[in-house]
Amino acid sequence: MKLPLVAIVGRPNVGKSTLFNRLLGKRDAIVDDVSGVTRDRNYGESDWSGKKFRLIDTGGYVPESSDLFESAIREQVETAIDEADSIIFLLDFKAGLNPIDKIIANMLRQSGKKYFVVINKVDNEIQKQALSEFYEIGVDKIYNISALSGRQLGDLLDDITSDFPEIDETLQDPRLKIAIVGRPNVGKSSLANALLGQERSIVTDIPGTTRDSIDSILKYYGEEIILIDTAGLRKKSKVQESIEFFSNIRTYKAIGECDVAIVMIDAKLGFESQDQKIIDEVIRWRKGLIIAVNKWDLIEKDQNTALQFERAIRNKLGTADFAPIIFISALTKQRIFKLIELSKQVESERKKKIPTSQLNDEILPEIEKNPPPATKTGREVKIKYITQVGTHYPIFLFFTNYPNQVADHYKRFLENLLRRKYGFEGVPLTLSFKSKS
Ligand code: GDP
Ligand code: GDP
Repeated sequence: MKLPLVAIVGRPNVGKSTLFNRLLGKRDAIVDDVSGVTRDRNYGESDWSGKKFRLIDTGGYVPESSDLFESAIREQVETAIDEADSIIFLLDFKAGLNPIDKIIANMLRQSGKKYFVVINKVDNEIQKQALSEFYEIGVDKIYNISALSGRQLGDLLDDITSDFPEIDETLQDPRLKIAIVGRPNVGKSSLANALLGQERSIVTDIPGTTRDSIDSILKYYGEEIILIDTAGLRKKSKVQESIEFFSNIRTYKAIGECDVAIVMIDAKLGFESQDQKIIDEVIRWRKGLIIAVNKWDLIEKDQNTALQFERAIRNKLGTADFAPIIFISALTKQRIFKLIELSKQVESERKKKIPTSQLNDEILPEIEKNPPPATKTGREVKIKYITQVGTHYPIFLFFTNYPNQVADHYKRFLENLLRRKYGFEGVPLTLSFKSKS
């Protein structure tokens, strides 16, 4: 079941990112902490009084001081209206009402979507008259908050989440959910079409949970697999930032919703930094990861080509080198069903549980042979006990006398050890160190 999606829109500098970061849930913070990935973020999960929702920040993509400024803002608000269930329209108390604000307000009013007009940077209690100029945009209720201090955020969140469902996470759809992601033009739609063939059947969400986003069902030897839609039609835009924004939002949403992400790379173009960003996001959300090099039909090959390609990509993958790499062609359908087979394998690895006794019997002796380096003050670091937890993805708890002083390279050693013994191909592993004296 998909969580409701809330988008934050508004001019640059009104405080969108500040609010976004404040609202991000604890779970996100923990995941970031563990993965060490602290890039700029636009997508995350949050909860309020037991109700979970997803959040997108539309900031950071508007070209400043250009004649495209207004169209960029319009396109971002349009994207937010298309993608979100509910919108926070943020304005700046200190800067006052701006003509662009009125344009945004009109778009929201005409959209029929639920939206909340929120004046930010009200750092202290104020008289209601102080907000009178903002009522010009024509709404009944205006919230005033401070994203920086959190002032009055509770009332706003109560209202935003009032009609969100309380989602029971144990009632998850048991079907495998695969997201096909990658840069524009790598062949995502072509792959989806090749997999689905003529019988492209369409499924909508359970009513009342979220907007009617459309995913497809792939019937695979009697099993139903959900392909999460990322391609989507989009009218052409002159604003590069808008294209990028739209593509990123779609990508992040799909990654959030899937079990396994297939990151497609164009064989002709090779691996680029944008691909790395997508992979980082997959790892941050602890989803299964497969790298599919598409358009393999365009490459002239001898018997070493695949191997050389794979090496070149692995070199750039860094810590994501646990991902399987597969060479496909959406055009000739080469290996596309092998890709589905691989996705099923990765998901079953992701659900795999190593019994505690086995972990301690097999891993502790290896640790004894190769103990962690001492702390900076020369104290011996001991790992005493290991156990696997987590229902959706594997988390390994290591109980140690100095949980904050286990060196990074040693964590890497432990991860490799677990992978060597137990596989977990395509599965990001979470290692967490807990105190035990
Ligand atoms: P964005 O461009 O809309 O994402 O805006 P940012 O979140 O980057 O914020 C722009 C500036 O406004 C930053 O310097 C923030 O520290 C500041 N700011 C954000 N929220 C508040 C607030 O509630 N009160 C005050 N005084 N400043 C804020
Ligand atoms: P998307 O933007 O990622 O959905 O990419 P599309 O599926 O629209 O594909 C972009 C272009 O690449 C189209 O012209 C496709 O025909 C072409 N294309 C996609 N897959 C392949 C492939 O495996 N081989 C070749 N030669 N072309 C492909």
